[in-house]
Amino acid sequence: MDKRLFVIGDPIAHSLSPLLHNTMARLLGLPYAYAARRVTVEALPAWIREVRREGYAGFNATMPHKLHLMPLVDDLTEQARYFGAVNTVRRDGARLIGHNTDGDGFARMLAEHGWAFAGARVTVLGAGGAAGAIVRKAVQDGAASVTVLNRTVSKAAQLCPGEPTVHAAGLDAPVPPDTDLLINTIPIQAAPDGSILEGLRRDCAVVDILYAPPKTPLLLAAEARGMPAVNGLGMLIHQAILAFRFFTGAEADDAALARALYRAAETGAD
Ligand code: NAP
Repeated sequence: MDKRLFVIGDPIAHSLSPLLHNTMARLLGLPYAYAARRVTVEALPAWIREVRREGYAGFNATMPHKLHLMPLVDDLTEQARYFGAVNTVRRDGARLIGHNTDGDGFARMLAEHGWAFAGARVTVLGAGGAAGAIVRKAVQDGAASVTVLNRTVSKAAQLCPGEPTVHAAGLDAPVPPDTDLLINTIPIQAAPDGSILEGLRRDCAVVDILYAPPKTPLLLAAEARGMPAVNGLGMLIHQAILAFRFFTGAEADDAALARALYRAAETGAD
């Protein structure tokens, strides 16, 4: 069976996924080789033909492909249907199976820190692709409320239409002071600073899904106020672990694997 795996996207040059997946293949003694490939939106149908023709084992997909892949694969897992997006594709014989690890990867990162969506009052900054997965996972896991603050309020309102626990407002609206979990998904060029934390409890956990730089101004401000704060590297690592299992079926000690991947990401070595 073919052992070639890829991550596709545009841009893709700075992806950490090859380092993470090749580290897992080495640690688990599996002969997979994982590489990054730049694929534009226009070239996506040709990429799918190449995967079928060459018989690649599978691939991950990042921006801008997650929605475009939905109609191009042969089948969707329950998670891909629920999240309405595909970020992982596995070849099963002649069929391509589309899957999504965004929400579960994020929830596993939370669990690693002893946090969970269940019963939590959650505020999400931003309403793009990553926020969509996080908000849907928060609803799926039983968050008490999810407030989405976004520059374009209509996009926040569209994330979970008809879901009574989800509320949308503009970025200038205050973060609800009873927030248990504040999650930033706005890219670094426009990312919020510490002023957004005013009025929040000291035990409100702050997650910034960005991981370059490792400590954004928001995380530095949270730490300075004594609030628990983590970046998005764990989300990426736990998604990689879930995707590698989906590709290979290999069972592993996830906590040990995650520790090895944090080390690899920090040193840049597999
Ligand atoms: P996206 O779909 O493009 O969404 C970007 C969001 O940021 C939108 O809500 C957008 O608001 C807002 N935004 C952009 N520029 C803004 C500005 N100048 N002022 C105010 N708001 C602005 O991006 P995404 O896929 O959600 O990714 C978001 C970030 O998360 C990226 O930096 C990405 O690298 C990172 N990420 C990390 C992980 C991980 O594993 N750690 C996973 C996925 C993504 P509008 O709706 O008003 O345009």
